[in-house]
Amino acid sequence: MADSAGTVAFVDPEPTPLALLLLGHGSDPDSERGVDCPGTLPAPSDPGLVERARAAKDALGDRVFILGHHYQRDEVIAFADVTGDSFKLAQQAAAHPEADYIVFCGVHFMAESADILTSSSQQVVLPDLAAGCSMADMAEISQVEECWRVLQEAGVADVTVPITYMNSTAAIKAFTGRHGGAVCTSSNAERSLAWAFEQGEKVLFLPDQHLGRNTAVRDLGLSLDDCVVYNPNKPNGGLTAEQLRDARMILWRGHCSVHGRFTPDCVDEVRERIPGVTVIVHPECRYDVVKKADVVGSTEKIIATISAAAPGTAWAVGTELNLVKRLALANPDKEIAYLDRTVCYCSTMNRIDLPHLVWALESLVAGTVVNRIEVDPDTAHWARVALDRMLALPGVSTAAKPD
Ligand code: SF4
Repeated sequence: MADSAGTVAFVDPEPTPLALLLLGHGSDPDSERGVDCPGTLPAPSDPGLVERARAAKDALGDRVFILGHHYQRDEVIAFADVTGDSFKLAQQAAAHPEADYIVFCGVHFMAESADILTSSSQQVVLPDLAAGCSMADMAEISQVEECWRVLQEAGVADVTVPITYMNSTAAIKAFTGRHGGAVCTSSNAERSLAWAFEQGEKVLFLPDQHLGRNTAVRDLGLSLDDCVVYNPNKPNGGLTAEQLRDARMILWRGHCSVHGRFTPDCVDEVRERIPGVTVIVHPECRYDVVKKADVVGSTEKIIATISAAAPGTAWAVGTELNLVKRLALANPDKEIAYLDRTVCYCSTMNRIDLPHLVWALESLVAGTVVNRIEVDPDTAHWARVALDRMLALPGVSTAAKPD
C-alpha cells in the first residue's frame, strides 16, 4: 500500500488466517478475534454520553477501577483512573483490591492478564469483546503446541526456552510457564532473553518476531544469522531440522499491525522533512526501521524521553497515533511528528469508545456484569508461573506483585 509520500507500507505477504477479519461477527471468547457485542449500546451521537459515564462512575465509586491503555481514544482516557502500558495496568488492577470491578479499556489479552493478577473476588470487564490484538492472534495455542512438537523432532526442545511477549493470549503465557519459560515486556525483553540464554541454548520467542529480533541482535549482540523465523502456516514452520539446530533465536512469525507499518523510507522522509529531528520508535517496529532510528524504547520510555527533552527539540515518533497526538498536546514546546505520513490507530483498541464504556458502566450500576474476561484456573496458574519468572528477574519491579 503506497502512502501520500509514495513510500510502500509493510504488508505481510502471507497474512495469518487468524487475523482480525471478522470483527464484530461470530462468537469466540477464548480468542483475540472479534465477537458479538451483546446488549444495546447508546448511540455515539448521544450528547449526554460524557454525563452518563460520569454519573455511572460516581455511582460505582471505589467499587470500579478503570484502566486506560496508552493507545486508547481521548474520550475513554478521560475516564481512566490510571493510564499505562499493559503490564503496568495489570499491576495497577492488582494494587486495587477494593475494586470489585476492573474495567479494562485495552484489548483482550490485557484483560486476561489483569484477571490472572487480581484476586478471585474481582471481576474484569472488557467494554467491547471485539477489542482483540492482531499480534496476539497470530499465535494460537494449537499452532504453538505443533511448533514444540517440531522442535522435539529436531532434537532441540530440551535446550530451548520459550519467552512470550506480554502481548499474547493467556494460553500462550501458560504454555511458556509449563515449559520453563517466562513472559517479557518491551521494557525488560533484554533481561528476559539474557535469563533464558542462561537456562538453555536457544529461545523460542513468541509472538512478535520484531521485538525478538531487535532484542537479540541490538541488545544481546547475536547476529541476524542466529535468528530463524518459524512460520506456523508452513509445514514444520518452513524450517529444516538443521536450521533449527543451528539457530539460537527461533522467532515466531507474528507482528504488530500498527508498528509493522513503519518502513525505513518513513525515517528517511521525516529526516528530510524536519532537519535535526530525533527519530524514536517502539521495538515492535521492523529491524531495518529500528536500525535507522536514533532512540528505541517501550511506550513508557518514549513518553519519558520526550517529556524530559529540551524545549525546541523535534521528534518523530514511531508508535500508535493516539499516544503521539497526546504527546504533542502535552509538549507544546517541542515539535512532535508522527513517523508515517499516513495515520494509523490500533483499530482494535479503538473499538472501545465512549458508548461501550457507558454501556459497561451502566450495566454494572444495574447489577449486571457484562463482557467479563475470566481465565480458567489451570491456564491462569501456568500463566502466572511465567509472569512470576519475569517478576523475579533482577531489576524488574515487584512493587505491585499480588500475593
Ligand atoms: S498496537 Fe499492535 S500489539 Fe498493541 S494491541 Fe494494537 S495490534 Fe496489538
